[in-house]
Amino acid sequence: MEDAAVQNNSPDITLVTPDAPIAVRTHGGRAKCLQRLVRLDLPVPTTVALSFDTVHRLAGGEAPDVSLLMQPFADDLLLCIRPSSEDPDWGGPGAILNIGINDARHADLVKSIGKVAADEIYLRFIQAYSEHVARLDPDMFDDIDMSSPKAVADALETYEDEAEEPFPQDVSKQLLGVLRSMARAWEGTSARLLRMAKGAPADAGLGLVVQAMALGLGKGESGSGVLQLVDGQSGLPVVKGRYLSQSQGRDALEAGAKSLFLTKDERGPSLQDKLPASFDALLEHANLMRRRLREEMQMEFTIENGDVHILDGVRIQRSARAAVRIAVALAEEGIISHEEALMRVEPRALNELLHRQVDPAAKRDVIGSGVAASPGAASGKVVFTEAAAQASAARGEACILVRRETSPEDVRGMHAAAAVLTERGGVTSHAAVIARGLGLPCVVGANNLRFQSKTKQLTSGDGRVFKEGDILTIDGTNGEVLSGEPAMLEATLDESFQNLMIWADDVRDIDVRANADTPADAQTAHNFKAQGIGLCRTEHMFFDEDRLTVMREMIFADDPEDRRTAVERLLPIQRADFVDLFRIMADKPVCIRLFDPPLHEFLPGNRAGMRDLAEALSLPLSHVERRIEALSEYNPMLGMRGVRLGITIPEIYEMQARAIFEATLDASKDGHSVVPEIMIPLVSAKREVELVKTRIDAVAAAVRTERGADFDFRLGVMVETPRAALRAEDIAPHCDFFSFGTNDLTQMTYGLSRDDAGRFMSAYVQQGVYPEDPFHTLDAEGVGELLQLGAERGRKAQPNLTLSVCGEHGGSPESIAFCRKVGIDYVSCSPFRVPVARLAAAQFTIKDKIG
Ligand code: PEP
Ligand code: MG
Repeated sequence: MEDAAVQNNSPDITLVTPDAPIAVRTHGGRAKCLQRLVRLDLPVPTTVALSFDTVHRLAGGEAPDVSLLMQPFADDLLLCIRPSSEDPDWGGPGAILNIGINDARHADLVKSIGKVAADEIYLRFIQAYSEHVARLDPDMFDDIDMSSPKAVADALETYEDEAEEPFPQDVSKQLLGVLRSMARAWEGTSARLLRMAKGAPADAGLGLVVQAMALGLGKGESGSGVLQLVDGQSGLPVVKGRYLSQSQGRDALEAGAKSLFLTKDERGPSLQDKLPASFDALLEHANLMRRRLREEMQMEFTIENGDVHILDGVRIQRSARAAVRIAVALAEEGIISHEEALMRVEPRALNELLHRQVDPAAKRDVIGSGVAASPGAASGKVVFTEAAAQASAARGEACILVRRETSPEDVRGMHAAAAVLTERGGVTSHAAVIARGLGLPCVVGANNLRFQSKTKQLTSGDGRVFKEGDILTIDGTNGEVLSGEPAMLEATLDESFQNLMIWADDVRDIDVRANADTPADAQTAHNFKAQGIGLCRTEHMFFDEDRLTVMREMIFADDPEDRRTAVERLLPIQRADFVDLFRIMADKPVCIRLFDPPLHEFLPGNRAGMRDLAEALSLPLSHVERRIEALSEYNPMLGMRGVRLGITIPEIYEMQARAIFEATLDASKDGHSVVPEIMIPLVSAKREVELVKTRIDAVAAAVRTERGADFDFRLGVMVETPRAALRAEDIAPHCDFFSFGTNDLTQMTYGLSRDDAGRFMSAYVQQGVYPEDPFHTLDAEGVGELLQLGAERGRKAQPNLTLSVCGEHGGSPESIAFCRKVGIDYVSCSPFRVPVARLAAAQFTIKDKIG
């Protein structure tokens, strides 16, 4: 015991006892976990942990004190060595078993457990040593019949021939050889790159655990297996695992039908039938591990002549849906706190629950890839036009809308499609934004596929051609395009998910609203418990057939009077839209953005469309052509759009304001208290706000008089030009709120087109020009500085100013962290990202609390 005490105090070679100085930081997760199992008094074989420092020195050629290391182990024991890195996901060299076997011990084992078992142990070690330590070709044993009685002799001879020396008989030499090979494998370049790709720091350390072998081979009922208490895919409680008689390590998992089930099972014999007492002991140990380690673990065990040994515990691998169920179940049983449960679920992983996904077990025939613009997966027949998508939906057939890029004209086709694929675009391009809003799987910027819209075909890099009607699957979660229809997993918004969300809401200190343009979006937002609508893009309401024609009449009107007449026909339609939104969002705030896009987006892009329009408006084709020509701009995104339209064609904003106010009064009749928020887009000068505000106030006064009823409303601006952020102090006195439109603000700050950046973004990120796609993760340094400046200057002039972010960044966890820091009141994102934002916000609040 004195020896044990020496090791117990050694920081380098430490016997795993309940109070030995072992930490994840110095000895790795496996060593720490084994110490916890020892503290629980579980039957863990004697184990010694080697620290990161020791292993690092070993890789550099400095041998540890092997005799000290071997002291705690009885002379006739065999040993195994396993890696112990700080995070198990960083990988590490594979375990090596049966170290210490040599001719003499083999002879003893033949007597104690029989020749077959003794041979198997020796053969396994000769093979592992040859490959990993002596670095010989693993194929060199191919000609040996491993079941022959002379297999051991043959293997030893083969080793000697190849290595030009006899197989080492000295246990210390074997042990040192294995330790050194594992230490060096960890420091190799490919292992280093691999773990760095998984998030490990460049200098991540490796610990090693040396453990006495429980043989699993030999007398009585002996074998090995694994056991866990939940299913890693579903997260539901079930005793799972396999056991294989006369086996070692993780053999049972590879043995197929030869292995036993654990619990009684109709499909075949089970450990519970065969060894009920050992099974009960295993179950008891597993339950104790779960309660005391506060985690779902996979237990690795060996049975030696009926006796149970616990060799290891590993946190079970789990799908996102299982992660939610496991965390919530542990918290509901009081094993972990609600806050800990919240911290255990990766916010983005919720996407897996919110959308259908390709079954991870399904075969994937990948034909192309692009930017993962909207998560989830869907299969359907390929269509190349918006009209074909609608026709397909009318037939009840799922379709994939394939376009070079989408424009507002495609919105109805997108509604009809099961998923969208575009050749161009990035994360804030039109297709991406609309698809996220609709919860539709979407891949954009798939430029490794050839899009041939004229011939209606799509050609993959390997030359396969896909025509209209062929079946494709879009995996918007990872940006892949697959041929055919793999198996899917359905979305699951079960009770565990709902509970986790309620706990998140109890904790978080930043509000979350949704961007929603239609009653269907609003309903989704409401279902996901958004605290209101932070952005309703009204232009999307004008693309339905009946409205589009009136819109076009308005655009073609020759004078303000005709324009007003056309616009008035849109009034009841808009009013009905808003009444719906107010009713669905019941008393929650709804922020409506006035018309934003350039008018040309409502006009046909080809001659056939122009001819139809000329006919519909009874105008000569040449007149239509001239008008379209006159409206075309070199750079429409920086042209006549947003508030600039509001100033030059005031009838549109006046109609929208009237529709909002009348809808407010109509929806309030049901007892709702509606206080609409009206938002002016693309502001860059104070005077723009003054002019629009004066007109809106006049409309409000007129509606109050006409209806003989009062109402409140709030007016604000969208801060999405750099100038609006810089001049926030001038603008804020006219506003109740600012909402930062970080899509346009990013576009204008970088001078980077949001629709074209996808073409070179991956090269930029790969070469480290940008750390991330700034349309995806808010650029805290540049765009963020403008945002912070705008927020500070705005609040200086107007302390009660409500501040929010409604660009796509509103739903990204990193951006939410930034928004909290600069005092943003709420973020607003597409409805399907609301749960992700709620959880991310809760996690940041908890992190701040912990400090
Ligand atoms: C923005 O620019 O950030 C925004 C929310 O508006 P849109 O994406 O409609 O331009
Ligand atoms: Mg914008």
